[in-house]
Amino acid sequence: MIDFSLSDEQQALQELARKFAREEMIPKAAHHDETGEFPREVAKKAWELGLMNTHIPPEYGGPGLGTLDGCIITEELAYGCTGIATAMEANALASAPVIVAGNDEQKREFLGRLTAEPLFAAYAVTEPGAGSDVAGIRTTARKVGDEYVINGSKAWITNGGVASWYFVLAYTDQAAKHRGMSGFLVPADTPGITVGRKENNLGQRASDTRGLTFEDVKVPAKWLLGKEGDGFKIAMSAFDHTRPPVAAGAVGLAHRAMDEAIRYAQERKTFGLPIAAYQAVSFMIADMAKDIEAGRLLVWQAAWAIDNGIRNTKFAAFAKAYCADMAMRVATDAVQVHGGYGYSKEYPVEKLMRDAKIYQIYEGTSQIQRLIIAKEIFERR
Ligand SMILES: Cc1cc2nc3c(=O)[nH]c(=O)nc-3n(C[C@H](O)[C@H](O)[C@H](O)COP(=O)(O)OP(=O)(O)OC[C@H]3O[C@@H](n4cnc5c(N)ncnc54)[C@H](O)[C@@H]3O)c2cc1C
Repeated sequence: MIDFSLSDEQQALQELARKFAREEMIPKAAHHDETGEFPREVAKKAWELGLMNTHIPPEYGGPGLGTLDGCIITEELAYGCTGIATAMEANALASAPVIVAGNDEQKREFLGRLTAEPLFAAYAVTEPGAGSDVAGIRTTARKVGDEYVINGSKAWITNGGVASWYFVLAYTDQAAKHRGMSGFLVPADTPGITVGRKENNLGQRASDTRGLTFEDVKVPAKWLLGKEGDGFKIAMSAFDHTRPPVAAGAVGLAHRAMDEAIRYAQERKTFGLPIAAYQAVSFMIADMAKDIEAGRLLVWQAAWAIDNGIRNTKFAAFAKAYCADMAMRVATDAVQVHGGYGYSKEYPVEKLMRDAKIYQIYEGTSQIQRLIIAKEIFERR
């Protein structure tokens, strides 16, 4: 059975998130973009309304919503500001490994913190020398008695400077390559962790991205997720849960860019006519509408699959690659529709174009999504 309608609950969530984006995010987006100030107050309000940590099960204080529900919310929040939305959504990435592989004590401690207070968490996998090539990480975790001692450096960690805990991927056995990696839950106040300066990024500037250094950081063995050697699998399977909402964020950004383009195309006149009257412009907007719709369907398919226990790695990669590339294209065309004004901060489309770029890079680049899709096609048929 195919059904594209949203339930009453989903429509209510969509409405809540839409209202929040219009009233709480859009008015503050330019400020956070310009100053890079972390949107703590906005996130606190979203947390109070239940718009953060939506996937955390009720046993650990969350609403236990599905991935599709989360995508519906994320699309709306991203319409408001993807920088602020990413700051809030990074909790989902950090907590996905815990949901996938954590035991009850770990879930109680780490997921419970996020639902008890408006706190943040971070997913720390990337390193200065290894992003796409996760096996190239150099961080190690050595077992000493009933603790692990972690040494290494992480780079580009969203929420790095504000997190109360980190999911950290490290080698417990370097010779075993992928099978020698383990995932740890590390409270941010553990001695030996140094947080780097906030990166001065092109877009999504409200989001806090930093390097982290671990120097003889002692973590109780009970905070090892799963078994030694499970880390790579856990870190990657988290993406099946998080790539659909990331792609939904790209759809939200593209939708906003299209709305801005439509508004401007109806107002701006050249040669005596609104520019919307010219096919060269209206077709650009027609393509935006068509591609946004296609992107949303890919997001919903990927989310629906995982919510129904169907392996969604390929669908999640379809959604992430398509929506990231689509959002970049739509935002660029929205600038084009605005002509010279699109190139200035006077209109929101220049920010949307800067913000869109990261969707093609984080949570696996657009090239890596194609690698995953090709692997699924050639190795899993
Ligand atoms: C703002 C921001 C936030 C981020 N947040 C997080 C976070 O919270 N946690 C975290 O762990 N990481 C995070 N990252 C890191 C991000 O996931 C990596 O930047 C990304 O995976 C790419 O890795 P890289 O930068 O090392 O590029 P590289 O892996 O060096 O890639 C460089 C280029 O080569 C291409 N390439 C690489 N290998 C191949 C291949 N085999 N085939 C074809 N093309 C290839 C890539 O697509 C890319 O275009 C963040 C990054 C940014 C910029």
